[in-house]
Amino acid sequence: MNNKTKTGGVWSRLELWKKILIGMILGVIVGTFMGPSAEVLKPLGTLFINAIKMLIVPLVFFSLIVGITSMQDTKKMGRIGLKAIVLYLGTTAFAITIGLGLATIFTPGAGLGMVATVSDAAIPNAPTFVQTLLNMIPKNPVGALAAGNILQIIVFAIGLGVSLALIGEKATPAIKLFESLAEAMYKLTELVMKLAPYGVFGLMAWVSGKYGADVLLPLVKVISVVYLGAVLHVVVFYSGVIALLGRLNPVRYLKSLMNPAAVAFTTTSSSGTLPATIKASREELGVSKGVSSFVLPLGATINMDGTALYQGVCALFIAQAFGIDLSSSDYITIILTATLASVGTAGVPGAGLIMLSLVLTTVGLPLEGLAIVAGIDRILDMARTTVNICGDMMVSLLVAKSEGEFDKEIYDRNESSVKES
Ligand code: ASP
Repeated sequence: MNNKTKTGGVWSRLELWKKILIGMILGVIVGTFMGPSAEVLKPLGTLFINAIKMLIVPLVFFSLIVGITSMQDTKKMGRIGLKAIVLYLGTTAFAITIGLGLATIFTPGAGLGMVATVSDAAIPNAPTFVQTLLNMIPKNPVGALAAGNILQIIVFAIGLGVSLALIGEKATPAIKLFESLAEAMYKLTELVMKLAPYGVFGLMAWVSGKYGADVLLPLVKVISVVYLGAVLHVVVFYSGVIALLGRLNPVRYLKSLMNPAAVAFTTTSSSGTLPATIKASREELGVSKGVSSFVLPLGATINMDGTALYQGVCALFIAQAFGIDLSSSDYITIILTATLASVGTAGVPGAGLIMLSLVLTTVGLPLEGLAIVAGIDRILDMARTTVNICGDMMVSLLVAKSEGEFDKEIYDRNESSVKES
């Protein structure tokens, strides 16, 4: 009895990502051992996937509104916010393009030959680009919420959030309500994520029972491709933007990333890393207090370049694994959806996985693909969260520079301050 309590205690004290990893490894072992009969464990996974789906609509809706209303409405703030948002969205679209490009080159899912078991997983007739744009506007927002049309929900949430910000004091009660609902949704996400180890166990057992341990090799490829993309995006793309647009030495920027990147990598939460990013932006990049305390929290809520990059890689990986050809309009849909979805991704551990299900649904890719990716999600989350916060800091630097809110002396001193710390 004592032993039992002890074992339970050890398990409950384990961090979630370790439990998920254990779930994945046990799932692979049990599945390999049981073979196709491991399908009996699949309902565990289906339960988890259904719980994840349950979160998407309210999570996106509330956290997006709260992200927008957290902006102040003075003129300068409006301008700073606009600049930040343009940069955030532009760099995110670029990140997902890198992800799609690398996954096309390295084809991590090629030859897996998986078969979707859900009948609605076939690709629907792809709408044209113009249709996709027109369909983004909901004729009936309640209908969009009920139908779970995420693009339409995002458009409506942005409209509502901006309007709340524009009506000043009258918006206070509504904003408070949305804030508390958003908090509750973050909590619910955390609770659902507690199911992940068991869901991952069931799904991995079923996947490896059906496909054998061969499924692991492509996972190593997925990890390598996501990490390569992350390094390229930060070291080449962000540095390039800082040199070209900011006319600053990017090496200083890269050095300032060390501490916040370490926090992001280990906590896998952009929001949890905020204190570190704000400190580094002020003390090492020379970004003013005003800009850093506005642009960085906004970025932690809406700017997820790493998440978008990961979604590009994973969407293609899953398409390749299931042998599904994507058309060019599917690619555009992935870029649009992942960019907008990353806006609605909360800066908390594992949120990107939930949003991946949304990207998959939008292009009609089988959700079973999530099962394969979920087992290694923590490893991918470490990379994508790090990219997410590096992007936030890059944008805060550029916005500060363009607004005269930047202290060049601090920036140039950066090298010695990094050495000291
Ligand atoms: N963990 C990420 C972040 O906080 C979000 C994600 O899961 O992609 O930035």
